[in-house]
Amino acid sequence: MNKQTPALLIRLWHSLWTTLRHAWAKRETVSYPEIKRPLPGRWRGRIVLTRDPDGEERCVACYLCSAVCPVDCIHLQATQRDDGRRYPETFRIDFSRCIFCGFCEEACPTLAIQLTPDFEMCEQSHGELVYEKEQLLVEGQGKHPSYNFYRHAGIAITGKAIGEGVGDTPPVDHDTNLP
Ligand code: SF4
Ligand code: SF4
Repeated sequence: MNKQTPALLIRLWHSLWTTLRHAWAKRETVSYPEIKRPLPGRWRGRIVLTRDPDGEERCVACYLCSAVCPVDCIHLQATQRDDGRRYPETFRIDFSRCIFCGFCEEACPTLAIQLTPDFEMCEQSHGELVYEKEQLLVEGQGKHPSYNFYRHAGIAITGKAIGEGVGDTPPVDHDTNLP
């Protein structure tokens, strides 16, 4: 027996004791996907584009989400309806690059783009993780059921002048507030 043998035996018994101690302990693992753990309330997963309570697309194609995205994985093309309302003609998110940071959701002025708790997005190839507008646009309003940007924002629409929306204040007359 050389000088290191006692230390090695202590380490060996320590490892065995640790193994035995955990052999009958309560398991922390679950058999996914049969069993799914509850997700935290603010879990950030698959991104969707939502609609307002009137069923119209919320997105006004302002490009803010695309500009703020740190990995540059949002691409869209703006266009306009005959009544002047803007919307994205195309809207594409490359989920193979998305890091689910949530910046796009925070930047969106119309609450259109939202992250959902869905994380089950495995695909066989990168190309299948590029979602087009048809895959992103959902029928519901998501986390903000009653919000309609056009009813709140200082934008004139049919039947509502600027300043007449919910919570709107009349536009500032710059001639009256000069020093
Ligand atoms: S969650 Fe982050 S990385 Fe993903 S699209 Fe939005 S801004 Fe980009
Ligand atoms: S999803 Fe929101 S931030 Fe992105 S272009 Fe549409 S309105 Fe702008």
